[in-house]
Order: sequence, then structure tokens, then C-alpha cells
Amino acid sequence: MAHGTVDQTDIQCPSCGGQCAFDPAQHDLLCSSCGSLWPLATDDDHEAATEFPYNPNAPMPEPPSLRGDQVHQCKTCGGEVIFIGAALSENCPYCDGPVVLATEGTAFATMALVPFRIDRAYAAGAITDWVNRRVAAPNDLTKVSAEGRIASIYAPFWTFDSKEAIEYWATYQVGSGKNRRRRGRKGRINIDFNDMLVPASPHVTPLIRDGILHDFKPSYLRPYQAGYLAGFAAERHHMTVQEGLDANEADKDVLIRNLIKGEIDKPNPRVERYRTDTTGIQYRRILLPVWILHYTYHGTAKKVVVSGIDGRTFGERPFSPWKLAGFSALITALTMAFGLVWGATGIL
Ligand SMILES: [Zn+2]
Ligand SMILES: [Zn+2]
Repeated sequence: MAHGTVDQTDIQCPSCGGQCAFDPAQHDLLCSSCGSLWPLATDDDHEAATEFPYNPNAPMPEPPSLRGDQVHQCKTCGGEVIFIGAALSENCPYCDGPVVLATEGTAFATMALVPFRIDRAYAAGAITDWVNRRVAAPNDLTKVSAEGRIASIYAPFWTFDSKEAIEYWATYQVGSGKNRRRRGRKGRINIDFNDMLVPASPHVTPLIRDGILHDFKPSYLRPYQAGYLAGFAAERHHMTVQEGLDANEADKDVLIRNLIKGEIDKPNPRVERYRTDTTGIQYRRILLPVWILHYTYHGTAKKVVVSGIDGRTFGERPFSPWKLAGFSALITALTMAFGLVWGATGIL
């Protein structure tokens, strides 16, 4: 097999002119005609670690993506999907709806991505295993899901870093029975958020992030190259950085409140209010690889998703507030200064 280098946007085989697709098993471009392998690794792969500063008070305009990718729009969910090379599909990877060629809209350049490491055959096996393990699954589920369509998508995400200097007012319970009352406490806590993973599209559902990607490893990121997309679909980045930060607000609030409660370490803590001074915001626009099985069970559209990174598999089911628990692993530094007792035995 021949080896060589491939141009960033060129997915034609340099030796026979055939069309190449990214091969998850070999981590290279594979020519479908002559079998040549073309490496995508470069000496600059470490640049995928680069994060970009963002100042909300003086936002820098980002240049739009200038790539001439053909963009398809889903008629059902509105997702904007790019197909490079042989990935061209008439269906949306997210919802299985029909796609049409879109007129060019605004998009932003992707900085890095985690290439697919799990191939289609492995994903199909993982889905079968998952379905077979469902204790409560109806008997015909295996057959129905085997007839479904498996689609691939590089889904758009942000990673965000920030430093939060928080001042909080909280209460906790003291005493018991008749003597039960609440005591107040004011304090400060500093939190460094590192590589918080935030969906950059409404099509990235909790099933995808919280089910299979919440502990993704930034060390797997590679600088963007079109070759990694060859044979797969990708959704474009179209949110501004501020829109991404806004989308992260609710999750950040839950994490901050949970961390304050944990540090109080008293019965029945309650965060009455807090304020935070946010500095050091850094971001990346990235793509993460996902396999999605679409199947219909008794007239209802269902999904099973498989991480394209490690094969973790999750099917559609209701999610509960524990969904954010996994994020605690992303918090690298946590310091706390106990403040004054606030309002002695104040009942608030
Ligand atoms: Zn070839
Ligand atoms: Zn769709």
C-alpha cells in the first residue's frame, strides 16, 4: 500500500484519482478504488490543544468559514449538514428527515475535532448489545432495531474554560425536631471550569452529550482537516461565542450551586443567592463523532446513539437531574474561603 501526504481539502486519491474516505480503524484516508492509505497526522497536531480567549465586554468578530462545502438543510429539524465525498445522504443524521441542498448561510470555522475511532460495524454491534441488554425491552425490539438506519455525524460542540470568583449566601439546618432552625452563611468560593463540553446546536440532545460524550478526552482532539470528514456527515458551527456561553448558563448555575452546597457540608443546605465574577474565558469550536441508529417502534421514532470515540452506547429514555453529575470530573481546581456566619441563627 502506498503512503503519502494529502492536501487539507483533497480527498481524491493522489495515485489513482479514486475517492478516499476516512478509515476509523487505521486513522488514515483509505482509497476505495486502489486501497492506498494516506496519513492525516501532521507535525502540527498538538495545535488542536489551542484555546481562544474571549472577552464578553470586547468581543472579537470571528471570520466566517470560507470553505466551499456543500451544505444540506434538513426539512424536518432544520439541521445544516455537510457531506464530504461518499457520505452524501438523502437523510438527516439527527432525525432521519429528508435533506435538500441549502443556500450558503453563515458558518464559523471548526478549530479541532476528534476523528471517528469506532467504525460502522463496531457501532452496529454495540447497538445490538445495548438492545439485547434491555431487561424491559419488548421481544420484537431486537428485530425492529436491526432494520433501522445507522447514520454518522460529527456533532458541533464548544469547550469552555472560565474562572469564577463567587460570593454566596446560603442556609443550612441545625438542630432537630422542635429545635430545628436554619442558620445562614456567607462565603466565597473560586472555581476553575476546564473544558466544559457545551452543545453548539439544538440538535445535540441530552441523549448525545450526557449519554455518551460527557467525559470525552480533549487529548484526542486533532486540528480540523476535511479528510477526517470524508465519508461522514458533519453539522456546521453557526452559533456565536456569546450564544454558546448563554447556552451554558443553566448548566453552570447547577454546577455552581452543587459545589457551594458540597462545601457547606451541613444538613439540608440551600443556596439563597450568589454572584460570580467571571474571567479567563477560553473556547474552542470542535466536532465530536457520533453514530445514531434511527428505528421506528410501533409508529414512534426512536434513537440509539453510540460514541464514535469509545463505543459507549445509550438509547432514548427519559433523563433526570443527575445528568450533570459526570461534569464534576471536569472541575480541576476548587478552593474555598469560609466567610462570616451570616445572620447568626437567621431564619430566612
Ligand atoms: Zn487510489
Ligand atoms: Zn433533521
